[in-house]
Amino acid sequence: MKLATKFIHAGAEPDPGTGAIMTPIFQTSTYVQEAPGKNKGYEYARSQNPTRKALEDAYAIIENAKYGLAFGSGVAATDAVIKLLNPGDEVIAANDMYGGSYRLFSKVWERYGIKFIYTDTTNAMNVKAALTNNTKLIWLETPTNPLMNISDIAAIAAISKAANVLLCVDNTFASPYLQNPLDLGADIVMHSATKYLSGHSDVIQGALMMNDKELREKLYFIQKSCGAVPGPMDCFLILRGIKTLHVRMKQHCENGEKIAHWLRNHNKVGKVYWPGFTDNAGYAVASKQMHGFGGMLSFELKDNSIEAANKVLSSTHLFSLAESLGGVESLINHPASMTHASIPREERIKNGLGDGLIRLSVGIEDADDLIEDLNNAIG
Ligand SMILES: *Cc1c(COP(=O)(O)O)cnc(C)c1O
Repeated sequence: MKLATKFIHAGAEPDPGTGAIMTPIFQTSTYVQEAPGKNKGYEYARSQNPTRKALEDAYAIIENAKYGLAFGSGVAATDAVIKLLNPGDEVIAANDMYGGSYRLFSKVWERYGIKFIYTDTTNAMNVKAALTNNTKLIWLETPTNPLMNISDIAAIAAISKAANVLLCVDNTFASPYLQNPLDLGADIVMHSATKYLSGHSDVIQGALMMNDKELREKLYFIQKSCGAVPGPMDCFLILRGIKTLHVRMKQHCENGEKIAHWLRNHNKVGKVYWPGFTDNAGYAVASKQMHGFGGMLSFELKDNSIEAANKVLSSTHLFSLAESLGGVESLINHPASMTHASIPREERIKNGLGDGLIRLSVGIEDADDLIEDLNNAIG
């Protein structure tokens, strides 16, 4: 089935009771049982909810997975994956990734005896070199937030398989429209559904997708035992968002490309980080594993000072200054002080994330209007 059809019909079955074409919002905490142990498959809403089930089925379908699980946020989904591990286990993670993942790893899970080794995953050989007998998980993000670095999922999956280590890919930036890590050999896909899957900046939610039944059972056990489940209204909103993912992503890609090229030709703009440039370090791998380059990009001004960046950040009108990404409206962000403030400055700078970096989540407004807005702000 082609993507457009898949996204519109994913997980959607008419309600058996009424025929309602949209999955109802089952706003209930419990389900009446006929006799002890005799029920309709639903006992208590932390464990099962029909709206959540429809969404989890949709999650599986859009990532070509057998199973999907929904969580109360993207970091709750990440947290559930780390809970598969035991004290003493090691995780190899990218040295350029979402600040909240870094905070969860370094400030929460390190305290419980899990060790995180950060490396430049854009070279798969670095991942291989970081493997030890204690490595249990490789945590990959591609493209990365905010430098848009690309890692080769298939090459790293081959390394993880040979070492019998789980590979989880944070696929938030690409969305399932542009990239499907399970098809490339990953074991788990993670999404902040808050972003492109919702698409309308109105819900916080996370997703995990996987093919292995045993892995699904372990993660379901964690979901139910730790309780980071989303409410039915939020599940409904993501179900609705997924229906337009393909049309939104098409426009995000088109606008992203136009703005990336326009920025690159602007005389006040320095480096533009966008994997669709043929001379970008990640271009070859991105072209191989992605179906487009998306609507996320970052750039620096030639005057790469925090003051110059601040002027742009506070002068746009269509681009709203805000954290988050992936909504229909365009956002502008200052990673150093906003999304990535939890990463120590030296660490940030060492990994190429400077004080002057500006990140854009290019929305699906008219690209000419967006360019005019940026042009006025850059001056
Ligand atoms: C936002 C984000 C997360 C965290 O998701 P929440 O829904 O905010 O908890 C994880 N990874 C990436 C790449 C993100 O952009």
